[in-house]
Formats: sequence, structure tokens, C-alpha cells
Amino acid sequence: MAKNLILLGLPGAGKGTQADFIVEDYSIVHISTGDIFRANLAENTELGKKARQFMDAGDLVPDEITNAMVADRLSQQDVEAGFMLDGYPRNEAQAVFLDKYLSENGKSISATLYFEVADSLLRDRLLGRGRADDTPEVIDNRLEVNKAANLPLVDYYQKVGVLHTIDGGRELTDVYHDVKEVLDNL
Ligand code: AMP
Repeated sequence: MAKNLILLGLPGAGKGTQADFIVEDYSIVHISTGDIFRANLAENTELGKKARQFMDAGDLVPDEITNAMVADRLSQQDVEAGFMLDGYPRNEAQAVFLDKYLSENGKSISATLYFEVADSLLRDRLLGRGRADDTPEVIDNRLEVNKAANLPLVDYYQKVGVLHTIDGGRELTDVYHDVKEVLDNL
């Protein structure tokens, strides 16, 4: 059976690195909505024009636009082998849309991987990235905003029964060991 995954985790939780490991070992298409939006901005497509004002302001792109984009991507042939959503869903309305889209198309989510990391460690990791505009206050704010959006999704997938919480506060290879254990048992 194709593995259809969702990755959840706050900034600094190591989602991106784990996604790279997964793509290397499994025939799964990595779908990052942030990457798709950025590519559309760069090429100034119709979608890019619609998304630009929201992205420039650091806001979420409205659900109608984002959901339509994801539905279009998931209708392509390559996802039949399995897919991994990264950066989507970002809120419960998107999660509900995704469920409906998948069930109408005879698909479902096999696992949602939630990389859990203590706030203090996330803060240290983000500060360690050393970006000039990343003051402790900006980082704390980003974590709080993301947490408010993330936790309802964690609850949502817990209720659906596909949530796997992984301790992301360890070495990357130890984290990936647990990821493989989940994926190999799907
Ligand atoms: P990211 O790289 O995932 O942080 O995404 C970069 C930007 O793309 C975000 O700040 C949003 O403006 C937009 N974006 C990405 N994913 C979504 C989503 N699921 N819903 C709405 N906007 C999104």
C-alpha cells in the first residue's frame, strides 16, 4: 500500500531534515506547500500573483487558494506511489478539506508524524541559526503563533487515529530510526 504521510512540527523541530531522509529511502513524493508557493512566486504564475500579497505580509495564503493547489498536486499521477505533505494542512479547515478530497478519491492518510521538541530546545536551535532578524522575541513569537496552529492538528490526527509522536529532541539519526520504524510498519 502507498504510504501517504503528513509531517507536523514547530519550526526547528527537524521536519525538513527528516523529510530529506524519507525521500531518499522511500518512493514517496515530497509536497511542500511553501516550496510550491515560492516556485510560483519566482515564475510569477497566476497562482503566484494571487499568493504574493499574503506571503509578503507573512500571512497564510487563503484556504480556497491553498486547498485548490493541493488538490491539483494530489491529482497528479506521481502521488500514486505515496506522498508526504509538509507545511499542509496548517489549520483544521485545511485538514477537513484534505480528508474529504482523499476519501472522494479512494485515498487516506496512512500516518501523521509529529516531531515533538521542548520549547527551550526549539528556541536554542532557532537562535543558533544566527539569522540577523531572529531576536529571542521574534523567535518566541514565531513559536507561539505556530504552536497555536499546530496543536489543534495534533489533536485532530490523534482522533483520526493516525498520529505518531516522535521525540525530535535527539540526534537526527536517532529520530530517523523511529521514523523508519513507523513507516516500515504501515
Ligand atoms: P513555509 O515555507 O511552509 O513556511 O511557507 C511559506 C509561506 O507559504 C507561508 O508563510 C504562507 O504564506 C504560505 N503557505 C505555505 N503553506 C501554506 C498553507 N498550508 N496554508 C496557507 N499558506 C501556506
